[in-house]
Amino acid sequence: MMMEFPQYRLLEGAETLYVIEGPRHAVEFQPLGLKQWMPHAHVATDYPRFVWLQELQNETGHARAISREGFLELLQTREVRGASSQLGRFVAEDVHRNLDVTADVALQERTTFGVPAATKRHALVHSDEEVREALLMSVEKNWEPLILGGGSNVLMHSDWPGLTIEMNIKGIEVLSDDGNHIEVVVGAGESWHAWVLHAVNEGWNGLENLALIPGSVGASPMQNIGAYGVELKDRFAWLEAIHRGTGELRRFDHATCEFGYRESIFKRSARDQWIIVRVAFALERNAPLHTDYGAIQSELKHLSSPDITHKDVAEAVMRIRRSKLPDPAVLGNAGSFFKNPILEAPAFRSVMSKTPEVVHYALEDGSYKLAAGWLIEQAGWKGYRRGDCGVHDRQALVLVNYGEATGQEIWQLALDIVADVQHKFGVELQPEVNQLGAH
Ligand SMILES: Cc1cc2nc3c(=O)[nH]c(=O)nc-3n(C[C@H](O)[C@H](O)[C@H](O)COP(=O)(O)OP(=O)(O)OC[C@H]3O[C@@H](n4cnc5c(N)ncnc54)[C@H](O)[C@@H]3O)c2cc1C
Repeated sequence: MMMEFPQYRLLEGAETLYVIEGPRHAVEFQPLGLKQWMPHAHVATDYPRFVWLQELQNETGHARAISREGFLELLQTREVRGASSQLGRFVAEDVHRNLDVTADVALQERTTFGVPAATKRHALVHSDEEVREALLMSVEKNWEPLILGGGSNVLMHSDWPGLTIEMNIKGIEVLSDDGNHIEVVVGAGESWHAWVLHAVNEGWNGLENLALIPGSVGASPMQNIGAYGVELKDRFAWLEAIHRGTGELRRFDHATCEFGYRESIFKRSARDQWIIVRVAFALERNAPLHTDYGAIQSELKHLSSPDITHKDVAEAVMRIRRSKLPDPAVLGNAGSFFKNPILEAPAFRSVMSKTPEVVHYALEDGSYKLAAGWLIEQAGWKGYRRGDCGVHDRQALVLVNYGEATGQEIWQLALDIVADVQHKFGVELQPEVNQLGAH
């Protein structure tokens, strides 16, 4: 017999409500006192939970079927609790919603490198529930998921044979404000730069040096984005992510994210395991200004007022970035293609013995960060062009697509640069950009 979903259940005696959304997926609303519901999502990935869900469907336990109208009437007697109540809003407003999956979607316009690539299936997700729906679909149909934000840190080597899940969870919500400290939670699908501008305009300061970085809020913790002396981790409070295998929603605090230079747990031990759905920031009205970078100082010199504001810093950063970095809308690129290499003291001394002029910064832990752009420029690659791909003529760290380059051509250029820098300086460059598809 074909089962119809969603179905609604009420647990007798306990008042708990359930929405059964599919054979392996249910949302439970547990009453908290007289005023609140606590939502829990259940994805039956193991046998005991599958049996429990079947019992719920078959009314063999203490739960009985109720109508959609009856369910909504009961749900409206309390508020649904949660960081942003995404789950509750989705269930209350649109239980019948089915995720739209579009076949054969071009990714050229959805990634800033603009190389030719397509995805077999594409879904735009607006809520935690839609993320779960997409994940469940990918498990059931064996479609490998690829999470996409703004596509500004990826190089597609080939078409994607599975399901791309594009993050479009929106929302900016103030959680606390004591007059100086503000905690704000932001949906993963918000544009990073638009969020930074919004925060600066509200006087929620601390992110201004990170203005004009392309991409989404949800991807920002992935590589702990950073620029002009500030990194995401300096203003990060916590994030929530959904597990790709179980649908579990988990909160990650600062320590759990294991942030490092262009690194986090999501690029290392927890790689390909979580989908970040929202990020919370700890901002301050009286945040200290970070103006140590020479370029920022010379930009600020032109200001007539001696009182520099956070907005001035944001605008200075935007002017510098516009003058130095290629605009992806005009020239395909994904920002810095390589990370600045970090060397332990013995390896650094060995490089210095051959190249004493190498540009470097001593780090607090005794290691040294080398300027990858300087190494690439000294090796003679700045401004180099091969067919339709090349190295930007103002910033040697940025590889560019002049129009018709393929992912594989850009990758081959990157490999040639890596080999040459290794040969000339004995330093191994690592890509910062995520390499996707078969290569
Ligand atoms: C011109 C230019 C300048 C740049 N400047 C900087 C800079 O100054 N500093 C800096 O740090 N970076 C910089 N970048 C790189 C890029 O903007 C950032 O890495 C950004 O955070 C990527 O966001 P995105 O939404 O585009 O991610 P995408 O490119 O869509 O995805 C990047 C990776 O994260 C994964 N991912 C995306 N969203 C999620 C999610 N919600 N949950 C789980 N996984 C997810 C993807 O699967 C992929 O592996 C620059 C890029 C460009 C094009």
